[in-house]
Amino acid sequence: MQNRKSAQLFKNAKKVIPGGVNSPVRAFQSVGAKPIFIEKAKGPFLYDEDGNRYIDYCLSWGPMILGHANKTVLSEVKQAMAKGTSYGIPTCQETQLAEMVVEAFPAIDKVRLVSSGTEAVMTAIRLARGVTERDMVIKFIGCYHGHVDHMLVSAGSGLMTLGAPSSPGVPRDFAKNTLLAPYNNVEAVEKLFAKYADRIAAVIIEPVAGNMGTVPPKPGFLKKLRSLCTKNKSLLIFDEVISGFRLGFGGVQTLMNIKPDLTTLGKIIGGGFPIGAVGGKASIMKKLSPEGTVYQAGTLSGNPVCVAAGLATLSQLKKQNPYPKLESMTECLCGGITQTLSAKGIEHQINRIGSMFTLFFNDIEITDYDSAAKSDTDRYGQYFRHMLECGVYLPPSQFEANFLSTAHTERHLEKTLAAAKKFRVR
Ligand SMILES: *Cc1c(COP(=O)(O)O)cnc(C)c1O
Repeated sequence: MQNRKSAQLFKNAKKVIPGGVNSPVRAFQSVGAKPIFIEKAKGPFLYDEDGNRYIDYCLSWGPMILGHANKTVLSEVKQAMAKGTSYGIPTCQETQLAEMVVEAFPAIDKVRLVSSGTEAVMTAIRLARGVTERDMVIKFIGCYHGHVDHMLVSAGSGLMTLGAPSSPGVPRDFAKNTLLAPYNNVEAVEKLFAKYADRIAAVIIEPVAGNMGTVPPKPGFLKKLRSLCTKNKSLLIFDEVISGFRLGFGGVQTLMNIKPDLTTLGKIIGGGFPIGAVGGKASIMKKLSPEGTVYQAGTLSGNPVCVAAGLATLSQLKKQNPYPKLESMTECLCGGITQTLSAKGIEHQINRIGSMFTLFFNDIEITDYDSAAKSDTDRYGQYFRHMLECGVYLPPSQFEANFLSTAHTERHLEKTLAAAKKFRVR
């Protein structure tokens, strides 16, 4: 693999961009590698500036479910762009996208578009606090909800401790309103509710965690959260920024038949453009300004180009229902990887649900952040670098999800498995 050009580009980037990247994981730090610089992408492939081609399992961290440079998305975007790129006044396409989201999610009556998942979460939490007139929020250790101040808390000392910020710059006064519980741990949540009963505005969760690696909820866990929230008059927020249109047309909540009060969306609904959305019951959503008093705004919210990409993506997903096929392909790939690694005696776990999965180098079942954190990240780094060398691009961290797109075929999976077969542990 040639990488001279990427190496030089990284050097240049570091002079003018902090760490040379515009989002930290892209620096490849945790996998002991130097980032590749991408020139273009098509279907399941990324092409770097040195002319290498990679089968992509990161897919821009999830959005590119139809593969890169999808024809219909591109043509809709071009048509939208020709009409101007931002008006800052309503368009009928925004209503169409909202209608599609409302139709897909039984728990969403109304939806507000924003420009990122982070903003969606920020809005959902402000809304929950405004509606309940309470300040505290329960969050699960290892779940990521964007880089909102009061959500950048996860490194707490376990159960029942008040959160300490994970980043300098987050005031303790914000962090102290964030309560932490381990993922999949009902008792911890019950204890928090017992201690802070009428002070908890909301429980926010990735209903399938993707940001500590893929960690599905245990049977009954989400239902229990639903009933605890109802009982305590707190809101349940499902952060489906990844899972919303990844695990089915209508997210985890539709698959598992649970109705959160608020839902945050992003990634796939923008079809590769910056977008986010927060939706929920009409009685809650009407509290948002201008109907209500909880303030939220955005210069580029509902941007016509992003909305065109989102509509083109969601319409194809709705029409094609690619989910069963995506799932069976992913199952097949994961089965192959397990077989290959087991034959070599390499301890590992694969957590998979639908077309998202994580290969953990770990010999215990991964159900929460603590178990995920016991994984052998050095070995993941070796595996990542080996696969990259073989033309397969995986997420550059042990604690991220892999995704398949509708552009991945059996042939790409075979190539990936052939690469995995050549992996040697050092
Ligand atoms: C990516 C992500 C976010 C943040 O979305 P951005 O568009 O990066 O701001 C929030 N929540 C979850 C679950 C995510 O995966």
